[in-house]
Amino acid sequence: MAEQDADVLIAGAGSAGTYVAWRLAEKGHRCMVVERDALDSLGAQIGPFHMEESAFERYGIPPPEGDELLHRIEAMTLVSPGGRRLSFELPTLCMDKPSFHRRLHGYAREAGVELVRGEVVGPVLEDGLVRGLEIRLADCESALRARLVVDASGIEGAVRPRMPPGPWRENDPVTPGDTIFVYMETWADVEGALGPGVESYPRYIGWCAPGPGDTWIVGVGTGGSMDAARVRHRVLVDSLPFGGRVAGSTGGRIPYRRPPYSLVDDGLAVVGDAACMNKPFSGEGVTSGLAGCAILIEVADRALASGEIDRKALWAYNARYFRGQGAKFAYLTASMPALMGISPAELDFLFEVPGIMSEEAARRMQEEYEVSTSPGDALRALPHLAGGLLKGRLRPSTVARIAGSGMTAGSLRRLYERYPESPAGFHAWATRCDRYWMKANALKHGLFASM
Ligand SMILES: Cc1cc2nc3c(=O)[nH]c(=O)nc-3n(C[C@H](O)[C@H](O)[C@H](O)COP(=O)(O)OP(=O)(O)OC[C@H]3O[C@@H](n4cnc5c(N)ncnc54)[C@H](O)[C@@H]3O)c2cc1C
Repeated sequence: MAEQDADVLIAGAGSAGTYVAWRLAEKGHRCMVVERDALDSLGAQIGPFHMEESAFERYGIPPPEGDELLHRIEAMTLVSPGGRRLSFELPTLCMDKPSFHRRLHGYAREAGVELVRGEVVGPVLEDGLVRGLEIRLADCESALRARLVVDASGIEGAVRPRMPPGPWRENDPVTPGDTIFVYMETWADVEGALGPGVESYPRYIGWCAPGPGDTWIVGVGTGGSMDAARVRHRVLVDSLPFGGRVAGSTGGRIPYRRPPYSLVDDGLAVVGDAACMNKPFSGEGVTSGLAGCAILIEVADRALASGEIDRKALWAYNARYFRGQGAKFAYLTASMPALMGISPAELDFLFEVPGIMSEEAARRMQEEYEVSTSPGDALRALPHLAGGLLKGRLRPSTVARIAGSGMTAGSLRRLYERYPESPAGFHAWATRCDRYWMKANALKHGLFASM
């Protein structure tokens, strides 16, 4: 067998790739991360970002201190288009992304990880098996070999979309139709009626939150294009009861689509944005990516110890991810577009309906990714919904769309909760899912095209 440059080669030194490398190195595996951009400023194009505080303990990452920690925020408030407010506790940290990345790189180096600056050009394949990565360095091209390759290269994908097609893999890139475009501005000298924490505007997939120093961040995410995001941002800004001087702006892309049905192949695993593990209601992907990483680390550690790193040895990563967070995200990804498409007046009406919008329901959605309506809540909501229909505050077509997409989403969730235990049942399972995703995607693509 040819000599290995590492046990595990990781494409991308963002939060997902670095976390996987750090933890696998701690377990005694030789890990090498290949990153295209300058390590010191990784994340600078985003700048401030948010992570729920509970994630640090869950994933064993020391909490941020000093300049990395910009603010600790206690609560989130959902604001309806007409100004109705619903606040709930959600301790969240606003942090400087480059500093967070540098700290993770430091932990990884201490554990023995080698971080290399270079561009991953694609996988090294032998008889269809992934055996390493083709790398472009400053002055040459080279092939690095490893027993396991991890694609953590973000939305563009340096490995998965460059795999040849095959019955076990999907190599389609994330298209603009499967993207949330984010545009955000940093405001200085802010004046007006500002809430104390994060304000979320579901109508715009928008938010406003404290940024570095005394600044505030006002952002939106939208389907369509970056131009559409800028236009929507302007509409949001015009509706806000406060204003400020624009001190900076930035933007980027977030995947909004189902992950590939399989996250593994012979010698390959995909994680983070590269595997579309983002929260479907906000597009945030750091914590939800770490959830995938934590499973991959355990499964890869066992597979590396046992010998050949084939699809079968890595399959538990698929099963555990998709039966847990993956099933919840499948439900939300399929059901959210129907909600995104309702009119501002209808959304305002839903904020009034008892049992639909409650503090507990809002918190569970953000923290546990659960849409929870108890039988009691549903009973309380029903007469109000019927009244809304009779008074014309809710269109029958809206109710039909929400109910239809809820049924599709529910079917998907149940299928994902029964993700095949082994590769044997995979193709039949994927065929059944296809039927439901076709329906869900038709609704999403129609909505995104109209944005
Ligand atoms: C404007 C904006 C604001 C956001 N705010 C938040 C937020 O507040 N909270 C939150 O949780 N999420 C937020 N997100 C989403 C979050 O940034 C991503 O979900 C998260 O960074 C994904 O981490 P990752 O490690 O999977 O991918 P990435 O962070 O994208 O890391 C991938 C790495 O791979 C490298 N790479 C790519 N191609 C190659 C190649 N060919 N060779 C070598 N290296 C390569 C990239 O340079 C990059 O460093 C935001 C996104 C945007 C665009």
